[in-house]
Amino acid sequence: MWAFVLGEIRHERALAGAAARKDAMNLATAFEAHVRSTIRLMDIVLLDMREDVLEQPDDFQNHVKEELQAYGSFVSQLGVIDASGQLVFSNLAPISKPIDLSDREHFRVHRDNPQTDRLFISKPVLGRLSHRWSIQFTRPIFDGGKFAGVLVLSVPADLFSDYFQQIDVGANGSIVLLGTDRSIRAIASGAPIPGRYGRFKLPEDKPYFVDGARVGYYEGVSWLDGEYHLGAYRRLEDEGVLVLVLLSPKDFMAGFEEHRKLLIVSASIISLLLLAVALLIYAFSRRHFRNTARLREAHEQMTQLANTDVLTGVSSRRSFLAGCEAELSRARRHGEDVSLLMLDIDHFKRINDTYGHPIGDEVLTAFTATCSRVLRAHDLLGRLGGEEFAIALPSTDLEGALSVAEKIRRAVAEAPIPTSVGPIVLTVSIGLASSAAGRDDLQPLLARADGALYDAKQDGRNRVCAAREGEAAGV
Ligand code: GH3
Ligand code: MG
Ligand code: MG
Repeated sequence: MWAFVLGEIRHERALAGAAARKDAMNLATAFEAHVRSTIRLMDIVLLDMREDVLEQPDDFQNHVKEELQAYGSFVSQLGVIDASGQLVFSNLAPISKPIDLSDREHFRVHRDNPQTDRLFISKPVLGRLSHRWSIQFTRPIFDGGKFAGVLVLSVPADLFSDYFQQIDVGANGSIVLLGTDRSIRAIASGAPIPGRYGRFKLPEDKPYFVDGARVGYYEGVSWLDGEYHLGAYRRLEDEGVLVLVLLSPKDFMAGFEEHRKLLIVSASIISLLLLAVALLIYAFSRRHFRNTARLREAHEQMTQLANTDVLTGVSSRRSFLAGCEAELSRARRHGEDVSLLMLDIDHFKRINDTYGHPIGDEVLTAFTATCSRVLRAHDLLGRLGGEEFAIALPSTDLEGALSVAEKIRRAVAEAPIPTSVGPIVLTVSIGLASSAAGRDDLQPLLARADGALYDAKQDGRNRVCAAREGEAAGV
């Protein structure tokens, strides 16, 4: 989800940037048209006036009045400079004292190029008579093919700025009319402008000066306010000016920023919800697994209980017989002998009768402990019922089994059992049977061992009797 949201944000940012570039170029195109038509209008006035100056110098003042009535709102002054640079006519005031304009660029450019009849557009200058910042539109005057002076039309710099100001370039955007000489002709901007007009020159490394392309895009930190801007420019080569529209990301990215915030907040809320759901699932499954583990534990306990004799802790009858089956098949696989002992405590009834049942229980537990001490770890001891026990001896032949049985018999007989009523002397009778290479089934083997036990009881108890190989029970 976050990958989608971040992808979407990147995509929208790119879209917003592309839209701003397009907007900037559209605005620059509109301004170019405006600037071009304004310049053309000024030139028409100039050419018209020049004809009048030459053809009807006496009636010139009237012509100026007429022209100014028509274009008065655009023009702040109309003047004539003679070949030596002296202002000889101005519509603003009669020339009472000499005003020298020979140092002005708009005079020099025509005087120094007397062969060229072209329109010149100056950078804004502070009028010596009008005291207003104005741009000079000038044309040279020729008399009999010789340079005779300059006709000057002063247009307030505000004419452009005021028009620019009406256009919405955003609170942080700006629109500039630049000379190809890198000085600002007119500007409208939300931000304060350094140096405004006059001697302020733009750095020459700006792409719209360097590239030489007629139309282009601009992106970078602006010299106006030190902020990053995106813009478009269009060059009016013949007029020596270019229009530049600068838009600020603060304005054109505002909508995108809003949307970005909304996306991030929504994605965060969804993430939190997902996290909550994940935590719930985790809590439920933990509880479920804990319950399952408890069940498994209980099951294991039950199995343990079912397999264990509660009083003595040795294998129960069921578990012992299952263990015997497993041992027999293992012996069969490996061709090993396995032996079985049947044990029955002698005259146990008497112990119960003499000391009571609980003491009988103590004796039974102590008896199994004595047996276990003699046995190896992998021998199986089980309680078949009452005071009858059985032992399976893996990998043990008849001889080995006789030795184990004898050891048990002697250990029981020689070590009286310590009980709460004092030591009790005990004996056990043991019958045994062996199965060579595990060939016997369990039941016949049990029956043979049982038969041998019967023999031991018959022979006087406290003894070990072995069933002969292949001997059937009771024979
Ligand atoms: P024999 O030498 O012939 O085996 O005589 P015996 O008295 O041991 O044999 P009998 O089968 O007559 O008696 C077994 C007694 O074992 C009877 C029964 O009360 C007792 N018994 C069986 N299970 C338990 C038990 O769990 N605890 C106690 N204390 N006594 C038990
Ligand atoms: Mg018995
Ligand atoms: Mg007995």
